[in-house]
Amino acid sequence: MIQVLHTPVLIPEIGMLVSDTLPHHSCRRCGRCCTSKLVPLYSKDLDRLDGFKGFYLPTTAQEREITGAECKMKMVKSRCVFLEGRRCTVYDRRPDTCRRHPFIVTGRRILVSTACPGIDWSRKGDGCLPYYKGLSSGISESLDQFIDVRTKIRSRRTRL
Ligand code: SF4
Ligand code: SF4
Repeated sequence: MIQVLHTPVLIPEIGMLVSDTLPHHSCRRCGRCCTSKLVPLYSKDLDRLDGFKGFYLPTTAQEREITGAECKMKMVKSRCVFLEGRRCTVYDRRPDTCRRHPFIVTGRRILVSTACPGIDWSRKGDGCLPYYKGLSSGISESLDQFIDVRTKIRSRRTRL
């Protein structure tokens, strides 16, 4: 029987669970995180990909509210423009979102993707929190605010 470390809380709008710890992760190279995914791009990411053209689009108002980013990676037929088969053609220059996936470590929360098949909730991960926090600096503040607001709205509805 699988023993779950704790009971994580789902944030449906972003398909992630708020957790109190990093679970174990071993990438299965399924390529799911490069398809049908919002990959926000911050100035650091755009600088890293300098020289490439036509790979990004403006974010929608809700995407900006959640991520704080003005741009996102372009997907063609739901696939990232840099994905070939299951291979990232800009691996060494990939955005922070891709480097930290399936985790986001904000100033106040640890979030874990619900879609990544490489997560094992029965084992504690050996990932380094400060490392993931550094890679989440672009999204951290907006996402914490977004979750604060959503959590308040939900608890108000439950009390009614
Ligand atoms: S979804 Fe998870 S297992 Fe699949 S490629 Fe991405 S990180 Fe690896
Ligand atoms: S940049 Fe690379 S790792 Fe990131 S979504 Fe695109 S193909 Fe995947």
